[in-house]
Amino acid sequence: MNLSSLIYFSRLYGANTELVTCGGGNTSMKENGVMYVKGSGTALKDAVTETFVAMDLQKLLGIFDEEYPQDDAAREAKFVADCAKAKLPGEENKRPSVEALLHALFPQKYVLHLHPALVNGLTCSVNGREECEKLFGDSVLWVPACRPGYTLAKIMKDIFDKSDKPIKTVLLENHGVFFGANTVDDLGIHLNGMMNVLNSKVIEYPLVDSDKPEPGFADKIRQVSGKQYVEFNASPTALKFAKSPESAKPLLKPFNPDQIVYCGPRVKFANCENCLNEIDANVIIMKGKGIYAIGDSAKAAANCMTLVKDAMKIATYAEAFGGAKPMDEELVSFIVGWEVESYRKSVSK
Ligand SMILES: [Zn+2]
Repeated sequence: MNLSSLIYFSRLYGANTELVTCGGGNTSMKENGVMYVKGSGTALKDAVTETFVAMDLQKLLGIFDEEYPQDDAAREAKFVADCAKAKLPGEENKRPSVEALLHALFPQKYVLHLHPALVNGLTCSVNGREECEKLFGDSVLWVPACRPGYTLAKIMKDIFDKSDKPIKTVLLENHGVFFGANTVDDLGIHLNGMMNVLNSKVIEYPLVDSDKPEPGFADKIRQVSGKQYVEFNASPTALKFAKSPESAKPLLKPFNPDQIVYCGPRVKFANCENCLNEIDANVIIMKGKGIYAIGDSAKAAANCMTLVKDAMKIATYAEAFGGAKPMDEELVSFIVGWEVESYRKSVSK
């Protein structure tokens, strides 16, 4: 099977850090009843033929005919097992993206799913839904935040079934965006069209890069947290959030599943060094100084800082749409306990 067009756009968009951070996002292609979808824990920018898992499209969509248990753990375990059953022979050692079934819902040949900060400025905002309608009319479908995995797939399936015209673009609240198209060029046209509209709404662009030296709290943070790797950011945007507990508020709760995977669910605001007597978060906003990201490995700390920067961008872009809106607590605790995300984290280390 020739996957060159799929590999081409996976790498193209995967290498753009404004569109993809860490292992986020996924892509797929359908041909002759087979869907090739990105494997969980792989990175789009490094896509090769082996990155993709070949799945029987009909078998995968057959999941909607199954009965699923109410219990979260039992339902999600069955869901992962049923997705795995749809893999073609020879693919046993690969694990498809948990979003594979969402890709399968799109009738188009190609699907591109991303979590760009600019898009999430809208999906993680107070007025997101109304603004989506104002900006894109009925050409973009809005899916309210819900539990990922089977629940999200079922909700999207019902929305697709009710729609009387082909759905090409879906925005998922507190998550990201899906584009479906029959050519790779059309994918780019949809993506650029959305980015242009959102860029035109930006009130202020975030400035998240920082080369300022760490002001001397890192050792204490290592000692108290027991984690040896610390990254520091004192960019203009980080300093804005670090002014006071009030200004830090938009960053204190996660916006999307990626943040939970790479930073954990908690962010701590610290008024002073002496307040660091207990650290139960991987992100510390230090009053007047900047933001720390900590981890058990250099990669874990770096990934966490990448997601902190992403959160700063989302919160800044969300100002155009009534301000930032984090995920609700119930959803956060579901994702914290979700096996699928623990898997993603374990392979990203
Ligand atoms: Zn996603």
